[in-house]
Amino acid sequence: MDPDSAIFVMPGRTPRLTLRSGRAGGMHGSMATVLVTGANRGIGLAFCQLLRQRGDAVVAVCRRSSPELDATGARVIADVDVTTGHGAVTLAKALGSTRLDLAILNAGILRESGLDDLDLGDVREQLEVNAVGPLRIAQTLLPNLGRGSKLALITSRMGSIADNGSGGAYGYRMSKAALNAAGVSLAIDLRPRGVAVAILHPGYVRTEMTGHSGNVEAREAAQMLLARIGELTLETSGRFLHANGQTLPW
Ligand code: NDP
Repeated sequence: MDPDSAIFVMPGRTPRLTLRSGRAGGMHGSMATVLVTGANRGIGLAFCQLLRQRGDAVVAVCRRSSPELDATGARVIADVDVTTGHGAVTLAKALGSTRLDLAILNAGILRESGLDDLDLGDVREQLEVNAVGPLRIAQTLLPNLGRGSKLALITSRMGSIADNGSGGAYGYRMSKAALNAAGVSLAIDLRPRGVAVAILHPGYVRTEMTGHSGNVEAREAAQMLLARIGELTLETSGRFLHANGQTLPW
């Protein structure tokens, strides 16, 4: 079986096509189970810290944990590179039938290269991590999502074609535009299953990705993103939103 195949399913894990009701709780006051990718640092770590503080059960997915992540008390699933079938299999095995109220697909990379120093390897890598990776993980998580679950894709306004006023950043822009396209298809395909999808820009955030040069802290960005996710319904599924609530153009 090819773990990279679009129809790959873990043995014994049939993607749920029927609707599941009776969610354990979650974003309406009681404890939710929330999965976060890219959980070891940056915005992903801030998500884990905030979610644990509000009492949610957190499944923190990463390649390698960090002391800060370990300190949150989240359940850590390590050795998950979102670009590999091995990562998807590791995740599926560790999760088993764990029901997820929310999955936040946040792992991403930014490789700087302009037209004159364009590195096509970097372009491909960003497509793999930022676009193919989240789709692979979303597919892997299908058996764990049911009616009332939410899926949040952390994209970037740099994936907006209409908003591109400065050019450059080929691989990053292309990869986030592709992620946005996947997000809309996921919203359409998952609506009959009762799963709502958010496509979210976090703002310009002080993390390693930006050399800590953003204008908001990761915690503040994660807080705003969680507010948007809290507001998400099947009716608003598939929208492209700034963390501040503004609708972004495609
Ligand atoms: P960071 O660079 O701080 O963190 C990136 C995270 O992604 C790390 O946990 C990293 O893990 C993980 N990651 C990278 N590659 C892989 C991979 N192949 N498999 C699994 N995990 C991987 O970035 P931010 O926290 O700033 O960014 C989080 C998200 O927000 C990204 O999707 C980014 O594109 C988006 N974003 C960020 C903005 C900002 O201003 N910071 C603006 C717009 C969007 P590891 O430690 O193993 O490398």
